[in-house]
Amino acid sequence: MRIYDIIRKKRDKEILTTEEINFFVDQLVKEEVADYQVSALLMAMFLNDLSESEMVDLTRAMMLSGDLIDLSKVDGVKVDKHSTGGVGDKTTLVLAPLVASCDVAVCKMSGRGLGHTGGTLDKLESIKGFDIKMSSEDFIATVNKSKIAVIGQTKNIAPADKKLYALRDVTATVENIGLIASSIMSKKLACGSDAIVLDVKSGSGAFMKDLASSQKLAEAMIKIGKAMDKKMSAFITDMSQPLGRAVGNSLEVIEAIETLKGNGPSDFKELCIELACKMVEFAREDLTESEVRNLVCQNLENGLALKKLAEMIENQGGDSRVIDDYSLFGKASFVVEVKSEVAGYITEFDCENIGIASMVLGAGRQTKEDAIDYTAGIVLNKKIGDKVIVGESICTLYTNKESLIKDASSIVLNSISITSENTSKPSIILKRL
Ligand code: URA
Repeated sequence: MRIYDIIRKKRDKEILTTEEINFFVDQLVKEEVADYQVSALLMAMFLNDLSESEMVDLTRAMMLSGDLIDLSKVDGVKVDKHSTGGVGDKTTLVLAPLVASCDVAVCKMSGRGLGHTGGTLDKLESIKGFDIKMSSEDFIATVNKSKIAVIGQTKNIAPADKKLYALRDVTATVENIGLIASSIMSKKLACGSDAIVLDVKSGSGAFMKDLASSQKLAEAMIKIGKAMDKKMSAFITDMSQPLGRAVGNSLEVIEAIETLKGNGPSDFKELCIELACKMVEFAREDLTESEVRNLVCQNLENGLALKKLAEMIENQGGDSRVIDDYSLFGKASFVVEVKSEVAGYITEFDCENIGIASMVLGAGRQTKEDAIDYTAGIVLNKKIGDKVIVGESICTLYTNKESLIKDASSIVLNSISITSENTSKPSIILKRL
């Protein structure tokens, strides 16, 4: 078999066989294929799209190119959630303890933030002492004891995807549904759960900017998961504005804790409940749909999910006193209101730019090596559909570097549309698949 023939075949819109895709991924991992040939094949895949069988074959080959997490020693059905990433997306911080409080094992491997979206690991590390590293034996023992652990992904998950993604990034071949779906699912499937609930974000703060492309991505990921015998479900959710009100690491953890205390923003609370119900439904076949919903809502209200979060923080070396004492997170030295210069209604956010403004304030990384200021970020005081008067605060900026405030304020002001005519508040759940 020759890579040249595989490139030619895909260029000519023929469907690659399992053997051809396996050969390509094998050569890629062994570094026996030149980057220019990989790039040519990626461009052919990008332009001609992947068929369903190619998508599944590519996912499987990339998944098998590295470590597979063995969760067979964890009791019960293992359910995972994947979010395609957004601004203010602190869902795992509420969802994981909520699902675990319903007696469902949550073996979560999360990532760090890069660019305009945040990462769960950075948020958790804003809690003093919280350790995101654990041996696989400790991970399994912790989940069997407490039903919950959230750790960083091991380095050797789907290394073929890492190589392909690095080339896609520099060859303008990222934005293809089949390539994105295979990339995400290869890593997710290597993490070993039995069922996956997808939270596919849609809107100006998301990878997929419109409902149709978000739906296509969700459908592609569902097909791949089902072909690998996983139970799959997807929610397309709104990312036309940040989720909840807080953007930035410790600010988001505080909002998550408040949500577990019953004081969360309504969009965020609704999303957590819906995702939790689906995850618990997959794992608790002994309960009816309405029993699941009652249990999830009860555990959010009676403090059991909050208790689970405290247990998780303690298990992982963190200071759980943060739950009752937010001063333990530290506070940004500069807290500045961004005031509206006009009166009207908030009708639109450029949500990606809100994420960028938060990054500028110190909450995120522009490169993998950048350090994070855990206390930096933005709290929105107004969201779509809210009325605003001249001089009223639209949002509050938090930073430790005064010099960054001017830039961040102007990004924020340019990212928010205020018009005289109101619009309705967007629903958080746009579609269920
Ligand atoms: N995230 C991934 O993991 N892969 C992609 O291709 C795009 C986003």
